[in-house]
Amino acid sequence: MDGQALARAEVFVCPRCKGALAAAAEALRCAACRLAYPVADGIPVLLIDEAMPMASGDLSSSSE
Ligand SMILES: [Zn+2]
Repeated sequence: MDGQALARAEVFVCPRCKGALAAAAEALRCAACRLAYPVADGIPVLLIDEAMPMASGDLSSSSE
């Protein structure tokens, strides 16, 4: 019963593997699937069909 409230937190999970997504500039990334889900007008598009595959090596480029 207490899981419902927590689901409202701004934590997005990958629709494919249910893993937590890492927020990037204009996409939400799943490191496990190596997919980047686009964010349109601030709304994440969590559709596998819309996800873009990440280039290999892009995972380590989290310098900010
Ligand atoms: Zn995933």
